[in-house]
Amino acid sequence: MAFESLADRLGSVFKKLRGKGKISEADLKEAMKEVKRALLEADVNFKVVKDFINGVSEKALGQNVLESLTPGQQVIKIVNDELCALMGKETAKLDFSRKITVIMMVGLQGAGKTTSSAKIGGFLKKQGKRPILVAADVYRPAAKKQLKVVGEQLGVPVFSIDESTDAVFIAKKALEHASQNANDVVIIDTAGRLHIDEELMEELKNIKSAVEPSEILLTVDAMTGQDAVNVAQSFNKQLDITGVVLTKLDGDTRGGAALSVKAVTGKPIKFAGMGEKLTDLEPFHPDRMASRILG
Ligand code: GDP
Repeated sequence: MAFESLADRLGSVFKKLRGKGKISEADLKEAMKEVKRALLEADVNFKVVKDFINGVSEKALGQNVLESLTPGQQVIKIVNDELCALMGKETAKLDFSRKITVIMMVGLQGAGKTTSSAKIGGFLKKQGKRPILVAADVYRPAAKKQLKVVGEQLGVPVFSIDESTDAVFIAKKALEHASQNANDVVIIDTAGRLHIDEELMEELKNIKSAVEPSEILLTVDAMTGQDAVNVAQSFNKQLDITGVVLTKLDGDTRGGAALSVKAVTGKPIKFAGMGEKLTDLEPFHPDRMASRILG
């Protein structure tokens, strides 16, 4: 299960804290050292860990927690609150302020972009929207086919232009199609590559300026830990993404990506992929994630 070892480690630190009637500064320091180690082992970004530990320690010392009647509980509460804050406090919403909401899906191959595009389509359809999916990965015919299959399963129409290899053209045509067919959400599944390269970024930038999306959602694979965070940082720098879809949280990820992405990029995780099925998508709730981590 995801976060298992992090949850175990933190659990044992907290057990020690709870067991003490009084906590000295040295006890707190020792506990924070263990929390730090656990977070680093969970592949949380080093700087994020450092800031996190400093934040928790400052609050614990500043709020006279150690003199209180239940110092252990209070420290645990601070850790919980800070974990939520780290992941963004509140559930991040999508921007539906425009007549047609264009969601541009970006990411590296294999991260789960096509699956997530479809899942988001299905999720929004359930909320009463009229989404279409757009096959704009012009390099891999298999990606288009995959989108058509999943679109059909969900009853979400898929727009594609078989004779075109111009992703910008396809995206623009999809918007026209949407306004003619009263679709209010256009989800564009763009090409992914194995690595970030200039060509990919150029194409994505061109699509972005052609369709001016309300959302640019980057799909990253939680299992890849620090790599996911580095990928997020690069995409954000180049495209100014609006949020992240963190996939494969159902696997036994150590959790580093979930805990670092927001702090490193400043952009929230908006959805979590929880499995291979097309219904396995949830809005990302920082508080629920924190309680999962803290057990
Ligand atoms: P793309 O290349 O980024 O478009 O990736 P795909 O959408 O084709 O997904 C790659 C693989 O990851 C597929 O086998 C998906 O079923 C799988 N996948 C995607 N999201 C999730 C998830 O949240 N959990 C799990 N377990 N598998 C996922």
